[in-house]
Amino acid sequence: MQSERTKKLPFDSFSEECGVFGIHSPETYNIASTAYYGLFALQHRGQESCGIAVGNGKKIEYYKNMGLVPEVFSAERISSLPDGNIAIGHVRYSTTGASKLCNAQPIYFIGKCGKMALAHNGNLINAKELRNELIKENAVFQTSIDSEVMASLINKYSDESIVDGVLEACKQFKGSYSFVLMGQGKLIAVRDPYGIRPLCFGTIGDKYVVASETCALDGVGAKFVRDIEPGEVLVFDGSGIEFYRIDKTVEKKAHCIFEYVYFARPDSEIDGVSVYESRKESGKILARKYPVEADMVAGVPDSAVVAARGYSEVSGIPYGEALTKNRYVGRTFIQPEQGMRENSVKIKLNALRSNVCGKRIVLIDDSIVRGTTSKKIVQMLKEAGAKEVHLRISSPITKHPCYFGIDTNDYSQLVGAFRTEEEIREFIGCESLHYLTIDELCQTVHRDKNDFCLGCFNGEYPYIVENEKEKEDKHVLDD
Ligand code: SF4
Repeated sequence: MQSERTKKLPFDSFSEECGVFGIHSPETYNIASTAYYGLFALQHRGQESCGIAVGNGKKIEYYKNMGLVPEVFSAERISSLPDGNIAIGHVRYSTTGASKLCNAQPIYFIGKCGKMALAHNGNLINAKELRNELIKENAVFQTSIDSEVMASLINKYSDESIVDGVLEACKQFKGSYSFVLMGQGKLIAVRDPYGIRPLCFGTIGDKYVVASETCALDGVGAKFVRDIEPGEVLVFDGSGIEFYRIDKTVEKKAHCIFEYVYFARPDSEIDGVSVYESRKESGKILARKYPVEADMVAGVPDSAVVAARGYSEVSGIPYGEALTKNRYVGRTFIQPEQGMRENSVKIKLNALRSNVCGKRIVLIDDSIVRGTTSKKIVQMLKEAGAKEVHLRISSPITKHPCYFGIDTNDYSQLVGAFRTEEEIREFIGCESLHYLTIDELCQTVHRDKNDFCLGCFNGEYPYIVENEKEKEDKHVLDD
């Protein structure tokens, strides 16, 4: 169980929001090892807990725990899981429900259709209402996460067939969900009708593999087939694939554009767009739109490094490293004592004095949430001798919270909610600051703007979020 001293460090950035992996094989083998490598490739999406469930037609066994994939799964642990023909896996960053073991996934349950396990990426905005209705109908819950509500509702409607249960339950889910479910000898993969979170599938010979991102397909040697479409339900059962659609009319797609800016790995392709290329393009646009005289361009590691290279390419200003990152900091960490907490950014990032001293730096970052980290980074660079720091952000000002799987659900957490670019610059203390506009961000993905959720920039969400307006108004009044 998580103690007070092992809470999340107050790192000021968006946080990854879970990754899922599933595999179906016609033959039984040590399938947990494939799931392990799939999850390892998705580690960037969640570092709090992880788990793997394996099924062999008779039973499902699972193991999950707090920590990174290699911490939780030793070679002995993987080989202690039975051979099987289906496996699902999950890496978690908590957005609903506390970061503790009982909320780790996959969720295992025994329902009307026997043994099942579910792993989910996303966030249901109507989980509370659904949970209360299910409780009135005598359902019991062991966790505080929306994914258990999903499992319970699927079970409610799974009289004979788990697929019927999924199709019926999905009509009632509101929010983002990409999930994998195993039961009745099937692997089922589902993406919500707006396609908010990514999900794709591929093959390794006659095996089918499902993953949040293509980098996990690459990680297990699978050949990418395609992205799972918004509202699509794929059932892998040994005799091939069955395709279903969630019976719900949704007029547009709403892929989370932040997947390209920050969440996804640069070597992934999501919905036909290379994450690397979109990041590079964002840096190029920043260089064209917001040039400045400087000696070096640097990116805040890791997610802004590619954009910084794009800026350097167009501006002709040499690329260099201004910051070094401690790569061994997980999402949970011993909470520093008060005095040190002020310095918590330094646990993760430090200035490269020899590279920055005496230089005018263009620093590229992907986003600014509270602004406190950006302020500390600028201070750090100046203390290391940087003459000027010009900050360029490869996304628009984050003005609104996200309710779809990212842990910024409050206006008070956002420095940009009610401030202008100039006011944010003053707060951060850099020489100049510029963000991409929404249109410029959409140019980086070369797709119709209407295919994306841009809610955290323009407040227009795929679903009506209850009391959203009141939350915004309240914050204006509180200010
Ligand atoms: S509100 Fe922002 S972070 Fe959340 S799903 Fe939409 S684009 Fe993504």
